[in-house]
Amino acid sequence: MKEVEQKKIKLSYLLSGLMLLGFIVIISFGLLSGYKVIKDSLLKEALANNEAYAKKLARTADQFLTDSQDTLAYSADIIEQHLMDDTVLDEEARRLQEQADSFNSAVVVDTDRKVLAVSPKTVNVKDKVLDSSGAREANRAQRPNITNPYITITGKLVVFISHPLFDANHIYQGLVAGTLYLQDHNAFYDILGKHPYDDESFVYVIDKEGEIIFHRDIEHVGEKVDAEIIKQIKDKDVGAFRFTDADKQRFVAGYSKLESADWYIILQRPHELVEAPAKWVVQRIGLTTTPVFILMILITLYATLRIVRPIHLLAEYTEESLVSKNVEKLKNVPSFYDEAQSLKRSLVRTLSSLQSQVEFFQNQAVIDPLTGLTNRRTMDEVLGNWHKNEIDYAIIILDLDHFKRVNDTYGHAVGDQVLQYLAQKIKNHARTQDVCCRYGGEEFIILLPHTPLEEAYSVAESLREDLAKTVSPCGDIITMSAGVAEMSERAPKPANVIELADQALYRAKETGRNRTCTSRDEC
Ligand code: GH3
Ligand code: MG
Ligand code: MG
Repeated sequence: MKEVEQKKIKLSYLLSGLMLLGFIVIISFGLLSGYKVIKDSLLKEALANNEAYAKKLARTADQFLTDSQDTLAYSADIIEQHLMDDTVLDEEARRLQEQADSFNSAVVVDTDRKVLAVSPKTVNVKDKVLDSSGAREANRAQRPNITNPYITITGKLVVFISHPLFDANHIYQGLVAGTLYLQDHNAFYDILGKHPYDDESFVYVIDKEGEIIFHRDIEHVGEKVDAEIIKQIKDKDVGAFRFTDADKQRFVAGYSKLESADWYIILQRPHELVEAPAKWVVQRIGLTTTPVFILMILITLYATLRIVRPIHLLAEYTEESLVSKNVEKLKNVPSFYDEAQSLKRSLVRTLSSLQSQVEFFQNQAVIDPLTGLTNRRTMDEVLGNWHKNEIDYAIIILDLDHFKRVNDTYGHAVGDQVLQYLAQKIKNHARTQDVCCRYGGEEFIILLPHTPLEEAYSVAESLREDLAKTVSPCGDIITMSAGVAEMSERAPKPANVIELADQALYRAKETGRNRTCTSRDEC
């Protein structure tokens, strides 16, 4: 069954993918943790700032209220001396309202809340009874009092600050009071209504029940703040906290309690404004890192290609060398790192040894192992080829004389040495284009392409003469007889030519050995 090879991921993709992933993880982690650190420190700073600012506002507001009450106390002293003198009452009301920027209006009322004096005169309430909740509360209290802010019938948000009036017998005679219009220009508004943040942060004042008693937007007055805020401010007079409102908007808040009233000043800032610089910083870092990041990606890709290239080339040249039987290209593959070098070394070694084994087995098939000459099977192939391609040729067939004797006298091993010695001689006398074969036993054939009979005869004779005057490995001179024939009309096929050469050899043996006969002569 044919195995279906699954498509595998490329090493270059794998390596660059991994490195890219590494970069992204590191950079994202760096940016995220940087963002978190900056954000946390900004939040911490915002909480501390809000708390400090709320505290400062509370102190200033407290100071203002205390000063206002002192001013009223001073006027009360004077009025108490002249309770029946309308001029003095008018004068004090005017002084209270005009002096400083404390009150928007000032009144002196009797025990029935009837207005005895008022300033400015435009507030047309002289001799009328004040019916506001503030006036009632102050009259009931009969002591220095600051009301919670309330909305008058004219729609103004006011605070009623009062001081009681007593006669010489300590009998309550009414009160002197200043009214603060919280939405109008006055010192109190300046303290609470203006603050240095020109963004979406804001200041408001709540009473201890959590009801908004001052807010720059009057429509918020009277609203109840989130339960979360009431919970936060309950435990401590000063503090800071983070919270999420009913609309899921997150805020950073600082608060401080006033000493002169049960009020809390709260400074509230949207969370996202606090975080904004962190986002900006991270974005800037991201932007400035991008070119470096791109450069790193390019370097990574280049490095990956460099790493993968030797492996790629090794694979390609290994296949090539199997065909070309040459490992030179493989040896020259640049391998700058150890693993590629080892791989190359073992590939070159394996392929070289594989090739020499292949060569060995190929030789085994064509070469006679004892003499190193071409074997008979190959000889037949060569002759078949020449015949097919109509190449003319001659052949020499030769046989050692009385070789049996050599074996008998000196042994088979020495006989073998003599055969090797003869093979060497044959090679020496044959020309480059000739094919020398061991035909069988101690018979040899030389194939001589494009060679006329006479020339082949000369080759055979020079070999024979050389042998006849040289001492062989057995210590004796060993001679040979040869028969020469050529391809011709008489002998068109290789078998015919061999047959003729064999007959010539036979004649050479018959006529005394150590000689060469041709298919033409009758020697
Ligand atoms: P002749 O002159 O008639 O050729 O006499 P000869 O003794 O050489 O006779 P022949 O050619 O018939 O002898 C062949 C001998 O060669 C027989 C065999 O013992 C020997 N022989 C054949 N092959 C080998 C071989 O591979 N090694 C050795 N040592 N001897 C071989
Ligand atoms: Mg023989
Ligand atoms: Mg012989």
